[in-house]
Amino acid sequence: MQAITFQQPFKVLVKTVPIPKIIQDTDVIVKICVSGLCGSDLHGNDVGNEKDTIMGHEFMGIVNEVGSKVNDFKVGDRVLSPFTTCCQLFGWIENGYGIHGGQAEYVRVPLASSTLVKIPDEISDNTALLLGDVISTGYFCAENGLNELAPQLSYLKQYKLDYQKKDEYDDIVVVVVGCGPVGLMSIASAICLGVKNIFSIDSIQERLELAKDFGATPIHLIEDDPIERIKEITNGRGADIVLEVVGNSSALDLSFKLLRRAGVLSSVGLNNSNMFPFSPKDGYNKNIKYISGRCPARQILAKTIPLVLSKKFNFEKIITHEMKLSDGEKAYEIFEKKLDKCVKVVFKNNN
Ligand SMILES: [Zn+2]
Repeated sequence: MQAITFQQPFKVLVKTVPIPKIIQDTDVIVKICVSGLCGSDLHGNDVGNEKDTIMGHEFMGIVNEVGSKVNDFKVGDRVLSPFTTCCQLFGWIENGYGIHGGQAEYVRVPLASSTLVKIPDEISDNTALLLGDVISTGYFCAENGLNELAPQLSYLKQYKLDYQKKDEYDDIVVVVVGCGPVGLMSIASAICLGVKNIFSIDSIQERLELAKDFGATPIHLIEDDPIERIKEITNGRGADIVLEVVGNSSALDLSFKLLRRAGVLSSVGLNNSNMFPFSPKDGYNKNIKYISGRCPARQILAKTIPLVLSKKFNFEKIITHEMKLSDGEKAYEIFEKKLDKCVKVVFKNNN
């Protein structure tokens, strides 16, 4: 079969490799219909993925073969997968330990019963693909932020008369730093969860336009002054919640500066830094709440599948490039360099 494989930092290669086989009786082999190219696939450039690892942690497809201990799935079931099994990330092998990914024609899914999820007929292949990671990660980021702010809001509702007439999130200001796929999904999620005032920051015009389509007010990172803008909007106070989805120090630093005192910084950007850009003293003085971590996508699907079925948003519009596995090397280049107005690349197999 064809697969996109990791070779060395900044180099992937499309190769012909053997079709994976069932190794353990809890495995399923999935014939892949669509796989995704995600920002975190590029992190193999920074840290130690092994040569010839099949890339990709976003995929959906059809069950092709079932291990003897798997009772929940049968051949022919249409399934999606979260980006990890309960303990391992797809498309990452380090020191001989890990599993191959889904940028291929087939993938072996370990612990299939607790990993795969059947796809309702109403959900398209492309949207199912997005559910496995970016929709669920965006939702997780937004929900974490709102959950952490909840005690302050219930306090206001209890003691401030004018708050009792309002919807829960009428007055809060949420800012999303980064309008890539996860940022766009966190905008949609925050709106679905009831947020009315949402602003989004990026430096790429077409991404800001997509953010506007999803319901955020766009602010240009460079042409505008995001910190000043948010101060103006909030009468000098700052954002109640900042959703940081980029995963680098400058994004985290900006997020901290945008935040009001006692605000919530919810971060899901995959960050390889060893240091915070703000000091413990700054964090203490600002009284912030910081929440971060990798999304438990399998669990969040219980919320994001109904969100998709509600048809409130056309999530697929973030997919700017449908390509073939054989175009893998070109696809990585377009995606990494953000050429050709690229937001999200998916690989379609002809099944
Ligand atoms: Zn991903």
